[in-house]
Amino acid sequence: MRWTKAKLKDLQQRLTQAYPDAKCALDHRDPFQLVVATILSAQCTDARVNVTTPALFEKYPDPASLAKAKPVELEALIRSTGFYHNKAKNLLGLANALLARHSGKVPNDAEQLAALPGVGQKTANVVLANAFGIPALAVDTHIFRVARRLGLSEAKTPEKVEADLCRLFPREDWIELHHQLIFHGRRCCDARKPDCGHCPALALCDVGRGKALDPHSGVRLEVRVVGDKEKKRAPTLDSRLSTLDSSPKRIISLVPSVTELLAQWELATRLVGRTRYCIAPKWIRATVPSVGGTKDPDLQRIADLRPDLVILEKDENPKSIADDLTDLGIPWIALEIRTLKDCMAAWLLLGKQLGAMDQAKARVAELKTMLKPKPKAGPRTLTLIWKDPWMSAGPDTYPSDLARRAGFSPIGPARWPRLSEEELDALDPDVILLPTEPYRFNQRHAAELRQRFPSAKIHLVDGQAMTWYLSRTSEGLAMLREVNPDNKLT
Ligand code: SF4
Repeated sequence: MRWTKAKLKDLQQRLTQAYPDAKCALDHRDPFQLVVATILSAQCTDARVNVTTPALFEKYPDPASLAKAKPVELEALIRSTGFYHNKAKNLLGLANALLARHSGKVPNDAEQLAALPGVGQKTANVVLANAFGIPALAVDTHIFRVARRLGLSEAKTPEKVEADLCRLFPREDWIELHHQLIFHGRRCCDARKPDCGHCPALALCDVGRGKALDPHSGVRLEVRVVGDKEKKRAPTLDSRLSTLDSSPKRIISLVPSVTELLAQWELATRLVGRTRYCIAPKWIRATVPSVGGTKDPDLQRIADLRPDLVILEKDENPKSIADDLTDLGIPWIALEIRTLKDCMAAWLLLGKQLGAMDQAKARVAELKTMLKPKPKAGPRTLTLIWKDPWMSAGPDTYPSDLARRAGFSPIGPARWPRLSEEELDALDPDVILLPTEPYRFNQRHAAELRQRFPSAKIHLVDGQAMTWYLSRTSEGLAMLREVNPDNKLT
């Protein structure tokens, strides 16, 4: 890949669109906290550091208190971040140097920062960018790998990769790009198993398209096109288990519909945490504490609740949460629900793990009965899930499989694409389904779309029935079969 200015800009736009939430992952309130957290993050995950630092900063809120720390006590507080003996030595050296050379303040100068104990060029850049907003592009293990895979640099050291990136990208974009590349490395361009099929930069990556060897592994990656992958995908649940207690008693669900399912299966007494979007059944809000959102749960809160199982779903929760849980030694299970067959597999898996096989088998039997009459291929149907920008549920998603089984023929690009006005017009659907969540589509939106697509049928449908897999699958299927008057079951 020859990187022209236009291609570099294209890459930046793709990363901005894919990772709008990219930011510094180390919790900090001031430059001192950030420099300490960054020192602790060496050979350790940000999640683990974020769990460690609240107690550390409570005891040592500034360089003056840290300088007086007893090494044994300091080591005990940071032990879980690894290499604690050396890190404690560096933190004490840092605190004393800040007091002696900078009146207890963290300097905003690269050279002065890099001269502090435990602070190399990378840490200095992280602090400059995130604590002072001074453009810098620290190259960590993720950026090093991603930059080389994308062919942005062929250099063999982080320092040289940093120099190459700084040459290629405008100075004012360095901070944002730094976070975006880290997010991309964590969420998509994994060291061992890059998810090239869903990579926002695939069109710009020779390694991902199998045209060049992967500089990270030295081998050619298997080329996967999303459409092919979906066709070949086994019709079962793609789940991952870490060390799991055979009968978990302290469960945290990060998936709203799974929370509801557990309540339906009378397992709610085992729930010790949920997300703030887990709002059904209603009483769950008063009885089970929230651990934050589905995309950004509070890891400290999760760890404090001492769960013996956290339940995730791959579209609902970012992969980084599973990585963080692994780092914290918390068992988790990740469901992947794209079809009704996935639902059956998930019910059986959850039933087995949670000792609820009777409930699971009853669900499977009910759905199998409902699926026996097969619908004929029906009208070309687009399911919209968001407005400004328009987003749709691709044919390879759960809502579309539900619609397919109700006699609609889902159309549109794969997964959860954004659609420009032109792309929406070009799809020219026969039917548009407008679920009332996650976007609150209402009659006004339906009327607007009726004007725009005069020959299409527009149906406003219950968003929870359409998107809450596992707990409302049968309800959703029955609802959509009623919505489709032309549904011919054979
Ligand atoms: S296409 Fe694959 S190798 Fe290339 S950046 Fe994306 S995930 Fe990484």
